[in-house]
Amino acid sequence: MTKAILEVVKRYWGYDALRPLQEEAIVAGIQRRDSLVVLPTGGGKSLCYQVPPLLEKRTDVVISPLISLMKDQVDGLIANGIPAVALHSGLSVQERRQAEDFLQSGQCRLLFLAPERVLTPWFFGQVERQQISTFVVDEAHCVSHWGHDFRPHYRQLAELKRHFPQSSIHAFTATATERVRVDIARQLGLEDPTVLVGRFDRPNLVYRIVPRQTLKSQVERVVRRHEGEAVIVYCITRNETEKLAEHLSARGIEALAYHAGLSAGERRRRQDAFTREETNVIVATVAFGMGIDRSDVRAVIHAGMPQSIEHYQQETGRAGRDGLEAECVLFHSPADSLRWQGLLDKSVESPEWRKAAQTLLDHMRRFCAPGRCRHRVLSEYFQQPYPKANCGACDVCLGESEGLEDGTVPAQMVLSCVARVGQRFGMGHVVDVLRGAETDRIRSLGHDRLSTYGLMSDTPKKALTHIVFQLIEQDLLARTGDQYPTLQLTEDSLPVLRGEKPVLLAPTKAKRQKAVRTTRQEAESWDGVDRSLFDRLRALRRSVAVERGVPPYVVFNDASLRDMARVKPATPEQFLRVHGVGEKKLSDYGERFLAEIAK
Ligand code: ADP
Ligand code: ZN
Repeated sequence: MTKAILEVVKRYWGYDALRPLQEEAIVAGIQRRDSLVVLPTGGGKSLCYQVPPLLEKRTDVVISPLISLMKDQVDGLIANGIPAVALHSGLSVQERRQAEDFLQSGQCRLLFLAPERVLTPWFFGQVERQQISTFVVDEAHCVSHWGHDFRPHYRQLAELKRHFPQSSIHAFTATATERVRVDIARQLGLEDPTVLVGRFDRPNLVYRIVPRQTLKSQVERVVRRHEGEAVIVYCITRNETEKLAEHLSARGIEALAYHAGLSAGERRRRQDAFTREETNVIVATVAFGMGIDRSDVRAVIHAGMPQSIEHYQQETGRAGRDGLEAECVLFHSPADSLRWQGLLDKSVESPEWRKAAQTLLDHMRRFCAPGRCRHRVLSEYFQQPYPKANCGACDVCLGESEGLEDGTVPAQMVLSCVARVGQRFGMGHVVDVLRGAETDRIRSLGHDRLSTYGLMSDTPKKALTHIVFQLIEQDLLARTGDQYPTLQLTEDSLPVLRGEKPVLLAPTKAKRQKAVRTTRQEAESWDGVDRSLFDRLRALRRSVAVERGVPPYVVFNDASLRDMARVKPATPEQFLRVHGVGEKKLSDYGERFLAEIAK
């Protein structure tokens, strides 16, 4: 079977080998054995469900949450010569009829559907007529309350197994902790499924978590490192996206904002501009991304902290899907977690949901604290041991976080002041006491007689508040109470007060950012590549894409272009050996790309 799989993969996709777990997942699909496949973004999930119907000459149904996702998949399949179709609400009557005729012909290998179309009379009719017996559930975490992206329509999929007991179901997702995994299998009624869980680590991503100081110029600096390359900047609010996009544009970097406040047409237009490579920088809320398959995103920047590691993993997962190096920079301030906390405290969801959300937030908060390898923490969060002592691809292991300073003394001052006021006052008051403010409240409470009164009078108020936030962030202080939160010491405060544990804090003044290091992977992936040829091939790819009305990455991805600019094929046979070139692409594009290379 392995040989047959590899042959098809080479012929249609132009890949020489399978990625980890792809073969096992494909075999489960061919044998129609229920499966749950958890692979990180970019791990190659699509191939796992695209190969079986092709080999078995049958029509399989793929359930997918977004129209844009389906369209991209269908475009990509057709570009590789594989018959596929998506049925969704965006089709005209005529397109719909064409699609149904095509289904009727029995030639269609993959039918993409939204979850709300499943279990309709129409669907039952199709299943019967086309003898469909294999269902693929993409983004399967949407079925679970415990995931971070629950979608009510997905719940209906629980009915699939009941209505079609003879069918096999194959669930795919990129993010799933043990709990979500168990929930997916139960909800979908998987029977003795083959469970395949890939490695979550994405070695080609460089993670950097940097204290937020002058956000606009910090973001600008990262974007400039990626001139002419795709960059996504995530913000928490709409307003922030507009402001940042304006700033970048004013500084000569073309950037578009994207958020749910724009009209549907405008969102579509901006998303298309990004996928078609007309715009390289998009500044967005999390509303942007799920349908984005642009595989050459070289940087994902977070202007604020996401509310869970799942979100972070999914959003950063959009970087470097082509397997080439990419960087993920999170500009972080302790105020972010307080903001999420505030929302959570006010939320009216069930106590169960709040507890789950709280746990997710706490994990994210800890992830942002300085000191531990980011790759390791992410891997371990998904219950996988991380083998390397030094990943060589995060701010901690690259030694960039030395930007943090020893803040033990100021931390001790703050903590002892919290103790002196009896752990009964809020942040504003504690800051006032430390700065020696002359307020009635302080005088009437007698707090001007405390030994910590005026102890930090030469630290500006804003800087001092920032220190307090960071201590909360690092669990050295607790802030409790809904309406008038007060500061309290924690278990970890004592060792600091006793001088047994040092504290690292962000520098109070914005410092010059340290030089960013190049990783080994980056150097290697460009090894031997003729950069000017690569740029010309990219331009050619763009014009071919415009002619064909498909996104550029559907023509070739960056990995293929770099390979071409490295080996410089001169004949069709040599061209076929390039990464990602199958027979269909050779016949469609071979001549033009070979001509460009020959130039
Ligand atoms: P996922 O859905 O898991 O995020 P995709 O299916 O989009 O990932 O695949 C990510 C990228 O990897 C795509 O560009 C895809 O063409 C490529 N890819 C998948 N399988 C292989 C393989 N065996 N060899 C080389 N590239 C692959
Ligand atoms: Zn590391």
